[in-house]
Amino acid sequence: MYTLNDLAELIFPEIKDTVEDLEKRYPKRNLENGAMVTRFAPSPTGFLHTGSLFTSLVSYHLAKQSNGVFYIRLEDTDTKREIEGSGEDLVNQLANFDIIPDEGYLSNSKEIGNYGPYKQSDRATIYKTVIKHLIKIGRAYPCFCTPDDLSKLRESQEKEKLIPGYYGKFAKCRFLTLEEQINKIKAGESYIIRFKSMGNHENKVKVHDEIKGDLELTENDQDIVILKGDGLPTYHFAHLVDDHFMHSTHITRGEEWLSSLPIHLELFATMGWEHPKYAHLPVIMKVENGNRRKLSKRKDPEAAVAFFLEQGYPKYAIIEYLLTLANSNYEAWRAANMDKSYEDFVLTFDKMSLDGALFDLDKVANIAKERLAIKKAKDVVAEVKEWALVYDKDFYDRIVKDEEFFTKIINIERDKPKPRKDYAKYSDIYPIISFFYNDNYDKLSETKFEWNDNKPKEDIIDILNDYADNINLDLDETEWFNTIKELATRHNYAANMKDYKKNPELFKGSVAEASEFIRVAVSGRKNAPNLYYVLSILGVEEVRRRINVAIKNLKEN
Ligand code: GLU
Repeated sequence: MYTLNDLAELIFPEIKDTVEDLEKRYPKRNLENGAMVTRFAPSPTGFLHTGSLFTSLVSYHLAKQSNGVFYIRLEDTDTKREIEGSGEDLVNQLANFDIIPDEGYLSNSKEIGNYGPYKQSDRATIYKTVIKHLIKIGRAYPCFCTPDDLSKLRESQEKEKLIPGYYGKFAKCRFLTLEEQINKIKAGESYIIRFKSMGNHENKVKVHDEIKGDLELTENDQDIVILKGDGLPTYHFAHLVDDHFMHSTHITRGEEWLSSLPIHLELFATMGWEHPKYAHLPVIMKVENGNRRKLSKRKDPEAAVAFFLEQGYPKYAIIEYLLTLANSNYEAWRAANMDKSYEDFVLTFDKMSLDGALFDLDKVANIAKERLAIKKAKDVVAEVKEWALVYDKDFYDRIVKDEEFFTKIINIERDKPKPRKDYAKYSDIYPIISFFYNDNYDKLSETKFEWNDNKPKEDIIDILNDYADNINLDLDETEWFNTIKELATRHNYAANMKDYKKNPELFKGSVAEASEFIRVAVSGRKNAPNLYYVLSILGVEEVRRRINVAIKNLKEN
C-alpha cells in the first residue's frame, strides 16, 4: 500500500527541507506596530506601464509613511513572455521616480535583503517544499491530462453550457488512486501539479478589500495548476508562498486580480497561514468617445512611462498627478501645503477611488506647469540639462555653451508674484525660446516675420527706427515701459489703452501695437516671453542689430 508520503517523495526526492524549516529561515519581521510591508511584483515582460508606476508608487508610499518595508520581487515564471533585460529596466525606471526598494531584486546579479531570493525563477526549491507538504496532506496532486484532454474538456463544457475548468467531477486526475499516480510517474508520463480545491462555486465567500470594503465573491472550486511542466509555479501559488515568507502585510495590486482572490484565500487557509490584507487598486482608464476603457499599450503613448520621460515631463509632476489619482484629497492637501514634499502626504485607503481612475494628460500638464513655474531658475536649468543630455543633445550643447544666458532666459518673470506657466515639459522650452539664439533668429529672418499686416509698413519702420535710436535698458520694467509709451506717443500711437479704446479714431494705433512691432522685430513672433526681459537679455547692441534685420525682413516681405 502506498501512502501520500510515498507520492511526495517520488515527485520531490531532492527536497529535504520542510515548511517548518522555511518558517525558521524567514522569521517574522521585527517592525513597529502598523508598519506596512508592501511590494511591487512586476513580470519582466517589457516596459514600465503607467499603471504599474501607479501601483508601485502607492505601495512604496504606504511602506514609507508607516516606517515599513517596500521590496521588489521579480515575477519571472512565465518564461515565454519574458523580455530579456526588462527586469533591470523596470528597477531603473522606478529609481528614476525615486522609488527605491528597501530590499529585493535590483538586477539579475544583485539583490538585497534577508527574505530572498527575490526572483521567482530562483525560488523553485521553496515552492517545491510547500507543494511537497500539500501533496502529503492530500491537497495537491499530479495531473497527467494533456493539452488535448483539456481542450476536449473545455469543448464539452461549452457545449453543455457548464462553467469551464478543471473542477469537481471534471478534475479527472483527482480520482486516480495513489497506485495509479505512482505507476504513471514511474512509467515516465509527464504531469503538472494541481491544487485540490474543497470549494463549491454555488457558495459565496466573504472577502474584505481595504479599498472596496466587504465583498461577496464566488467560492473557488478550480483545481488550479500550481506547478507547471517547467518546474516553475503559477502566479497564484507563487503569490501564496512569496507573500507569506516575505511577510507582506498588504497586497496592493491591480484590480484585475480581485476575481482570483477566492483562490488565494483558499490557498492561505489550506496552509493555515494568515493571509495579508488586500487592496485592489483602480485600473487606469481613459475616456474615448464618451466611453471608458483601459489605458492601452497599443493605442495610448501615455501608457508607457517612457513617454513622459522622453517628452520631459518633470518626474515629480507625474508622481503628484498619480497621487491625485490615488487619493481624492491629495490636491486640497497640496494646495494647503505648497512648501512640503509630496512624500509628506499620508495616503489612506478610504480616499481611494472605487472604480477606474481616469487618466488626464492635460491635468498632468497643468500640474507640471504649476510646479515648474515656482521653481528657482537654477533648479529648472539643472533638470532641463539632465533631460536634454539624454533626449535632446543639440539643446544640451547649446545650454552648456552658455549656461548663464540660458539661466537668464529661464529666469524670465520668475520673481513675479504670479509666475508665468509657460512650460509643462522640458521639450516645450526650446521651441519657445529658440529665437534668443542669434543663429536661430537669423535663420528665421529668411522667412516672413509675424508682422501686423493691418498697419502701414512705414509706421512699423518709423517706430522701429526710432526705438533703435533710443534703446535704454538700464531701467526697471515700469520705467522702461514709460519709454515705450513715449515712443508710441511720438508716432501718434495712444500711450494709454483706455484713451485709445474710447476714441480710436484719434490715433494711428496703440502702445500695445507699438510694443508688438518691437517684439516681432526681435523674435520674429507675436508670441514671445515678456518683452522687457527679452530685450534686457539680448542687450542693446543685439536689439539694435535685430531691428535692422527686421526692417529688411519687413521691406522684403
Ligand atoms: N506579477 C503580477 C503582475 O504583473 C503581480 C501582481 C501582484 O502584485 O501580485 O501583475
